[in-house]
Amino acid sequence: MTASAIPSSLPELQTKTELIQELSVAVRNIPDYPKPGILFKDITTVIGDARLFKATLDLMTEQLKHLAPVIVVGIEARGFIFGAPLAERLNAGFVPIRKKGKLPGKTISYNYALEYGVDTIQIHEGAIPSGARVLIVDDLLATGGTAAAAAELVQQAGGVVVGYGFMIELDFLEGRKMLPSNIPVESLLHY
Ligand code: AMP
Repeated sequence: MTASAIPSSLPELQTKTELIQELSVAVRNIPDYPKPGILFKDITTVIGDARLFKATLDLMTEQLKHLAPVIVVGIEARGFIFGAPLAERLNAGFVPIRKKGKLPGKTISYNYALEYGVDTIQIHEGAIPSGARVLIVDDLLATGGTAAAAAELVQQAGGVVVGYGFMIELDFLEGRKMLPSNIPVESLLHY
């Protein structure tokens, strides 16, 4: 534990624990969306509340600032909701990774396997300075396939992935096993 992570007083610790508990409850569960058997974690109930959205960004900033990224990469679409404000708070640039065909400039592509079929994600060529420290942000880590694909794309684009930041991690899916064990994975809420 670094010195800055040690709480200065017990009440501060309780407030943070209570806040995390409040956020955990505020995320809405939608059963069988987008298909039967999936329990969808709906973050719109958090981001629609000014106090809860700010608390989420404050807590994620605290968790992620030690990574000192130069670029925050957000994964379409919910990764943009957290990635862009976090980039501003971390004094980093924001670079979007988008689904195929959405970026207007010259792109680098990466194909990855889905449960059925293949998906393609893209990043703008030249968007990441060579060797730049990159933090990958998304709303939720499930099986880890999306984050692993984003990391491949960032490396192809010349960046160095220094960490991953998620609002939510579904621990039982063990998605972090898909990511390199020597790179920090920080998640605010665990289910
Ligand atoms: P994965 O590649 O399996 O880690 O899936 C991560 C991506 O799928 C993220 O962009 C999430 O937004 C979305 N996702 C996967 N599972 C869920 C879920 N149960 N609730 C909400 N979003 C999910």
